[in-house]
Amino acid sequence: MKTETIEILCCPVCRGGDLELIATETVETESGATDIITGILRCGACGIDYPITEGGIPNLLPPENTPDQ
Ligand SMILES: [Zn+2]
Repeated sequence: MKTETIEILCCPVCRGGDLELIATETVETESGATDIITGILRCGACGIDYPITEGGIPNLLPPENTPDQ
């Protein structure tokens, strides 16, 4: 996931919170951009952490909303 992608993402819970990137593993691409492999996106408004899993896929599912209730 590219760092610029964060600017178009917003928190699905409060729909207004800015997401703060806490990257734990990054690589530099050929163009010099930073690509995030794993890390956390934290909503500054409601404080929920969304994991960025192996491969750079952000999981923006609200943690308390499980689909099979
Ligand atoms: Zn939020």
